[in-house]
Amino acid sequence: MALIVQKYGGSSVADSEKIKSVARRIARAKDEGNQLVVVVSAMGDTTDELIRMAQQVSEQPDERELDMLLSTGELISSTLLVMALESLGYKAVSLTGGQAGIQTDSSYSQARILRVDPQRILAELEKGNIVIVAGFQGVTQDMDITTLGRGGSDTTAVALAASLNAEVCQIYTDVEGVYTADPRLVSEATKLKEIGYEEMLELASYGAKILHPRAVELGGLYDMPILVASSFSDSPGTLICKEASMEVRNKARGIAQDTNVAKITVINVPDHPGIAAAIFEPLAKANISVDTIVQNASIENITDLTFTVARSDLVKAMSIVEPVIKSIGAKRCVTDSTLAKVSIVGTGMQNTPGYAARMFRALYEQGINIQLITTSEIRITCIIAEDRVKDAVQALHKAFELEIA
Ligand code: ASP
Ligand code: MG
Repeated sequence: MALIVQKYGGSSVADSEKIKSVARRIARAKDEGNQLVVVVSAMGDTTDELIRMAQQVSEQPDERELDMLLSTGELISSTLLVMALESLGYKAVSLTGGQAGIQTDSSYSQARILRVDPQRILAELEKGNIVIVAGFQGVTQDMDITTLGRGGSDTTAVALAASLNAEVCQIYTDVEGVYTADPRLVSEATKLKEIGYEEMLELASYGAKILHPRAVELGGLYDMPILVASSFSDSPGTLICKEASMEVRNKARGIAQDTNVAKITVINVPDHPGIAAAIFEPLAKANISVDTIVQNASIENITDLTFTVARSDLVKAMSIVEPVIKSIGAKRCVTDSTLAKVSIVGTGMQNTPGYAARMFRALYEQGINIQLITTSEIRITCIIAEDRVKDAVQALHKAFELEIA
């Protein structure tokens, strides 16, 4: 008898018919003799609606109260799913994140899981129950409810799978798996049978919306295989696991794009120690993550400093950077929020020359201007105009022959 953790996303439980169909899928896995722990997201856009409701009564909702409110979305879907399972004749029980033993720190709206104590889950499994856990939430030491950040149910599922030593963590969603590129942009995009944790982490962090990056990171840390598949079909999906199989010949594995990008350039910055710290420390304190940072070699001790932030953080970032600019004696600051990132990812690109050049040529041939470039060992990212993303992704998919992945 295998212990399996499944997770169903918001679109898979968006209405009562879909909840009933998910219940039938769970029942089937149970009939096959498995023990099941199932994590659910809130139905459809419930979380967005709850945020809207909070904003209607307060400009700046209290963060503790907001997390308590948001946690109710997942309570609705988990309890309804139990009722649907019971009416099919299966024994099931719903648990909140706290009841399921998920303990977090107290950073509301982006809490981190400190530990999982799965005792209650194990006791319910022992009684023969299918255990349905409300995703995206946990409790602090003081029993206050926290949420794990948008899309956090994936993290709940992988954390539970790791702590229960499950055979696999199956993430059911509205796409059929991980593709070489977004199939809405590239019709030749192919579904990958397998992908390594590192490659998936880069794709997820650089815009592939399939899985929450923190969930991939946890999977890699605990070596928990994660299957991503559709809740609407029986097609096999993509397995995220330690090693991509020997069959994989293509060194580049996938392309991700992210249109939530803004660029800030600080002009005429005096070039002496402490300047970068003066700019980036207050941004870090305000929880704004800075991605690409480029500083020119200085001429006569004056330089320019360019960096990117999420477009949704631009206003907040500028409110922090502007006063700093004055205090360090820089000239001015310009921003651009019409940008996007395109990234090519593959562990095989390590130590293999020529990949960056191939990427730049493909973009050049489309007449696409590269504004900034960043790399990791297994990723090359170019920042380009947002309105050229589709052309860029299509050209890269061809240039790297990803249709034969
Ligand atoms: N319901 C939460 C959200 O919409 C968590 C999740 O879907 O994973 O962000
Ligand atoms: Mg959701």
